[in-house]
Amino acid sequence: MKNNNNSTEVRQLRIPTPFSVGPINIFLLKGETCTLVDVGPKTKEAFELVEKFIKENGLVWHNIDRIFLTHQHVDHVGLTAEVVERTDAKVIAHPDAVPYITLDAEFMQYHDHFFRTLYGENGVPEKLLGYVERFRGMMEVYSEPAPIHKTIKGGEVLEGNEEWVSVFTPGHTQNHLALFRERDGVMLSGDFLIKEISSNAFVEPPARPGLKRAKPLLVYRQAMDEIAKMPIRRMLSAHGESIENPAELIAHRLRRHDERAEKIYGLLEGKGKTVFELSTELFPSIYLKELPLTFSETLGHLDLLEERGQVKSIWIEEENIYRYRQI
Ligand SMILES: [Zn+2]
Repeated sequence: MKNNNNSTEVRQLRIPTPFSVGPINIFLLKGETCTLVDVGPKTKEAFELVEKFIKENGLVWHNIDRIFLTHQHVDHVGLTAEVVERTDAKVIAHPDAVPYITLDAEFMQYHDHFFRTLYGENGVPEKLLGYVERFRGMMEVYSEPAPIHKTIKGGEVLEGNEEWVSVFTPGHTQNHLALFRERDGVMLSGDFLIKEISSNAFVEPPARPGLKRAKPLLVYRQAMDEIAKMPIRRMLSAHGESIENPAELIAHRLRRHDERAEKIYGLLEGKGKTVFELSTELFPSIYLKELPLTFSETLGHLDLLEERGQVKSIWIEEENIYRYRQI
């Protein structure tokens, strides 16, 4: 493809990760200026693959002008500091992703406290609460503090690659961003939608102490409704294959949410159950290994049932926990 005007070529690199989601796709927008969309985890293999990728595209490190981060997860941002060091690239992310990417010590303490409290109040046994710190330890292994030079919230033209516009796509995380090119309907969609598996809507602490927790599945479903209306012809996802008909996949995902919510409703007969108890029933083989994922998935669907007036959570004084019951 010949490069004319301000158009960019989109190049994809698949990088293995040590996480259950499998390899990640990062993208190079190659035009008059060059942007990397996500960079991969901080592993030796990822670094070498990115270096080779840049070379194979006829570039050197210094040709990378920008790094656009879709969201803060370490498989996407881990290598940022190393790439910045070699390129002087300017890093762009959502403001609420900043404390994760810079690994802000005070925020991380608040983050851990939020999860210990939330897990504790929702029936996660004391002996499993160490998961919170182990999860953070994982963040520190596969990423390192990186600078952010510019924050955006969606709707901004990507400087230097002007045909791309950022799109706020919350749900998987509360600060998720995608890039959209109207000319051919291509969206670099990060983890917003994954073809092969349902992307998880993670529970997160509010951006600042004192705010209420967002209900991730409700936020995600609303964003899905909005994105389904956009003229997107192809989503280039950060995991798996590209998605040729995103509106159809979104409709399918929304139906699956309804089905899972109904299943959970059925499990809630009697005296009520905690989020953790339900997660062990729904995900017997992975609830221990993938606690944040299975907890988020369960609580997200309970939020949905609560919103629909089908269940309510009740604080049980003697146990110091919430139980969910059918209404
Ligand atoms: Zn992610």
